[in-house]
Amino acid sequence: MNAERRVLVVEDEAKLAALLCDYLRAAGYETRVAEDGPSALQAFVDHPPAAVLLDLNLPGLDGMEVCRRLRHDSAVPILMLTARADEIDRIVGLEIGADDYLCKPYSPREVVARVGALLRRSQGRLAGAAGASPTSRLEVGGMALDDAGQRAWWRGQALPLTPIEWRLLRTLLQQPGRVFARAQLLDAIHADFRDVSDRAVDSHVKNLRRKLQTAMAGPDCIATVYGVGYRLDVPPAAGSSAPSA
Ligand code: CA
Repeated sequence: MNAERRVLVVEDEAKLAALLCDYLRAAGYETRVAEDGPSALQAFVDHPPAAVLLDLNLPGLDGMEVCRRLRHDSAVPILMLTARADEIDRIVGLEIGADDYLCKPYSPREVVARVGALLRRSQGRLAGAAGASPTSRLEVGGMALDDAGQRAWWRGQALPLTPIEWRLLRTLLQQPGRVFARAQLLDAIHADFRDVSDRAVDSHVKNLRRKLQTAMAGPDCIATVYGVGYRLDVPPAAGSSAPSA
């Protein structure tokens, strides 16, 4: 079985799960269904998928908790399916860490398109890591970022970022000290689709900021520019007195 094409569909409505699987298989994916939270976590371990479709309202353990637990030790792309529009910012933001969402009722075709977009991003970086092409690496001050593996480090310590946070950091780090408007950051993190709110950007920035602060043990290096957006100021590498940019 081809794990790179495997999608875990977590949905307790059997008819809906079957419909999604039909469309996904027609597009060349292998599917597995989990009908509740605990079996989703088990299926994730037993048959690691390349992407997860996750319904928010599930028996056993709800989709938010499943997402939180998956995200705890995996950067697997997660597409959240929800009927609760009021939860969107939490879903893609600080607390949950899903990569994308769709509100019910959604079209199965749109679901397949979103899964494709998430996989192109995550498998593009895998192909880059395995290929012979030189690794592209960005280093600014004490921060390093590697394109091939989509990883990031602060003074050699790996940063536990989600794919969206990584893209956000990469954008900010390409021009440290520059102020980026939310719309520009939105483009950077959601290249394939646009229906994500400015508040979702704020949530991702908040999450990234928290992780950087934890790693750096103190300083907040992402400045909020009121009414405009955000700016990254990178502290120098350890033991260095050189300016950061
Ligand atoms: Ca449900």
